[in-house]
Amino acid sequence: MADPKGFLTTPRREAPRRPVEERVRDWDEVYVPGGLLPIVGAQADRCMDCGIPFCHEACPLGNLIPEWNELVARDDWRAASERLHATNNFPEFTGRLCPAPCEAGCVLAINQPAVTIKNVEVAIADRAWDEGFVAARPPERLSGRTVAVIGSGPAGLAAAQQLTRAGHTVAVYERDDRVGGLLRYGIPSFKMEKRQLDRRVAQLVAEGVRFRTSVEIGRDLGADRLRARYDAVVVATGATAWRELDVLGRELAGVHQAMEYLPLANRVGEGDLAVSPLTAEGKHVVIVGGGDTGADCLGTAVRERAASVSQLDIYAQPGDVRDEEAEPWPTYPKLYRLSAAHEEAGELRTAPAADADARLFAASTLRFTGDADGHVRQVHLVEVDAGRRPRVGTERGLPADLVLIALGFHGPERRAGGLGDQLGLGIGERGGFARDAAFATEVPGVFVAGDAGRGQSLVVWAIAEGRAAAAAVDRWLTGSTRLPVPIGAHDRPMGV
Ligand SMILES: Cc1cc2nc3c(=O)[nH]c(=O)nc-3n(C[C@H](O)[C@H](O)[C@H](O)COP(=O)(O)OP(=O)(O)OC[C@H]3O[C@@H](n4cnc5c(N)ncnc54)[C@H](O)[C@@H]3O)c2cc1C
Ligand code: SF4
Repeated sequence: MADPKGFLTTPRREAPRRPVEERVRDWDEVYVPGGLLPIVGAQADRCMDCGIPFCHEACPLGNLIPEWNELVARDDWRAASERLHATNNFPEFTGRLCPAPCEAGCVLAINQPAVTIKNVEVAIADRAWDEGFVAARPPERLSGRTVAVIGSGPAGLAAAQQLTRAGHTVAVYERDDRVGGLLRYGIPSFKMEKRQLDRRVAQLVAEGVRFRTSVEIGRDLGADRLRARYDAVVVATGATAWRELDVLGRELAGVHQAMEYLPLANRVGEGDLAVSPLTAEGKHVVIVGGGDTGADCLGTAVRERAASVSQLDIYAQPGDVRDEEAEPWPTYPKLYRLSAAHEEAGELRTAPAADADARLFAASTLRFTGDADGHVRQVHLVEVDAGRRPRVGTERGLPADLVLIALGFHGPERRAGGLGDQLGLGIGERGGFARDAAFATEVPGVFVAGDAGRGQSLVVWAIAEGRAAAAAVDRWLTGSTRLPVPIGAHDRPMGV
């Protein structure tokens, strides 16, 4: 704490976003390049060294937040980078994508706006890359043990990096043609540009990780062969089995799952396609589902120049301030949050009756209707009360040429005879592959990390679980481990 009164004299300021009218014309990140650096030192200095840092406890990775806040305030970026990388393999991912439960737990947040922890994190990570503090750290000696990681999302990448640094020879198998999981083909580049992912993958390669893309384990290569070839296996295949919306008209053309739509837009960005076959251009778009995946569809549809866009959320609009009774500090409260995508929706004329940010709260989808050619043309909805009972007389229709269902995911895919069956994996309480507190399944040498075990969750949890599972694998292979285990990686509930 360079200035002990920083929290009294400096107001919270967040990373500035580029003007909406500018950023909806491209796919670059929404923030002003370099906009954080002039303000971040004073923001880090708002950390009041409270003594019991609940922020550190609230972060699934156990990031050493007060330590790096102080180092940034003192302008010691190299040391800040070291402390940050001690607990987080990919801080430029979390600094951009994490919903920051740490900030909800910041002691300052009891009666003032929290320290901008996530902004400080991304500033350190970006500066570390710019200054050349991030380098490949290949192991000094090899253990002679081999590990296969199935899936190259943040959980698989974190596990692979940790195990490689521990000296094991690691191969990552990925069924997609590129590495990255949802960071590659789910999350749009205006939230995190793919170059962030690419340079980390290059770092992993330089450290010795081998990537095998376009190989689906359980289909292209049998799980039994993988087990025979490697000493241990980490299953990090994500939770990609999406929730359906079982209403009349679901079969109409133009009604798609969010994860059918978003990967195509990402493939345009990668240069694989000139135009997305599902582009929203010129269409009335209705997104069913009020979560972050829905918001990603919204930002994508705005950039594809949709004619209008609405996002339906079955829950009532949350309040602007924490409900101290129901969600007391330091829990992560459900609040009305205006994401960058919602800010951008004002650029479009949203569909009739939608709010300026394109959202319709307490809205339940009744059915879809279409034209004579079997193409969707209207979404019929009704307002609901807190018990999801329809309010009489509130039924209405929205024009829709493209409907995107963004209702979340059940858990990992369970194809009969597929990966789970071939490995003999059970299903746990949360719908993911069953594993114990040390991420081990009942099958010797097979471990599960990330959304595949946890169910649909967050990037920060995927990295935390990848790190923790790597420590468990290392111990299983060698009898002990020096790999760190993130605090709380075993016992926290889903979500934040
Ligand atoms: C649209 C969208 C936006 C999101 N936005 C955010 C956000 O802003 N912030 C946040 O914190 N979280 C966000 N999330 C959640 C976050 O992306 C996930 O929690 C995280 O990616 C999970 O990481 P993972 O490594 O467990 O799985 P994934 O990222 O899903 O990676 C799993 C990988 O395994 C591969 N795979 C599956 N089966 C096989 C097989 N049999 N053989 C080989 N490979 C296989 C898949 O192709 C995939 O690449 C978002 C999710 C979605 C869908
Ligand atoms: S990873 Fe998330 S919870 Fe942890 S310090 Fe960063 S923003 Fe906060």
